[in-house]
Amino acid sequence: MPQCQAALAHLRWPQGFVCPGCQGREHSRYDREGRCYWQCCACRRQTSLTAGTVFDASKLPLTVWFLAAHLLTQTKTGMSALQLMSDLGVSYRSAWLVKHKLMQVMADQEHSRKLDTLVQIDDVFIGGERMGCGGGRGAPNKAWVVAAVQASAKGKSVLVRLDVVPNWTKLTMASWAVRALAAGTHVVSDGLAGFAAIKDAGFTQEVIVHGRGKAGAQHPRLLAVNTTLGNFKTWIASTFKGFKLSHYTQRYLAEYQYRFNRRFDLRAIMVGLINDASRTKPFRESTLRLPMAAEIPT
Ligand SMILES: [Zn+2]
Repeated sequence: MPQCQAALAHLRWPQGFVCPGCQGREHSRYDREGRCYWQCCACRRQTSLTAGTVFDASKLPLTVWFLAAHLLTQTKTGMSALQLMSDLGVSYRSAWLVKHKLMQVMADQEHSRKLDTLVQIDDVFIGGERMGCGGGRGAPNKAWVVAAVQASAKGKSVLVRLDVVPNWTKLTMASWAVRALAAGTHVVSDGLAGFAAIKDAGFTQEVIVHGRGKAGAQHPRLLAVNTTLGNFKTWIASTFKGFKLSHYTQRYLAEYQYRFNRRFDLRAIMVGLINDASRTKPFRESTLRLPMAAEIPT
């Protein structure tokens, strides 16, 4: 069996093949048109290596998927579909689909992440200045994002969570807090009015009142989030050039979040992504292309 197929088979069935129909283990294996199939001896069901996974219904060989997973996870800034197209030697549509399918796998993995203990939060307005300055609600190529960083006792960034929100009302922020924070979390934020709702949602909160700009960025109680946001904004500037930011922003943020939260083990992250994709059901192209709404209800 070629290397990528053997690797995927091992990830899917670490203890050996298990029939998805009857859980039987007795099987025979055969190749057809370069693809591996398993046939269950008990119920005769045939299973391809990629059946029921994100790699299903793709004409691209697994080697291309593995290379894409490598390129998306090993570079600090990720990779555009255009770059992927040339590096993988596939059409733009194929590159876009591979990228967005793998990004959606990352999004699904990060969706339920809860930050805990000590969390610093800040508001980010992508595509312009803070609310009121330019653009406006629903303007294209603009998005409001809650950036939350779990900090260590020494103030270092541990984990990040990035969520597109429709506005900064108290209702929105209370919903966000319940979704993003574990019970008992202590939150540090600036004095943005909506952030006050975090306390009402049952968390302890420390409000740092400071001016915008340099003084705020250097405040020691908000240093982890501001350091992380510095890198995040650099990434945004290079990533969000010339594409429909508002449509898929949350998926792009999830890609950043997924990589950031696994940054200490770069070797494991690519295999981890392949493993996550092998445990995720296939996505339809039409679903992936739907504009994504902010998930936090208002
Ligand atoms: Zn079976």
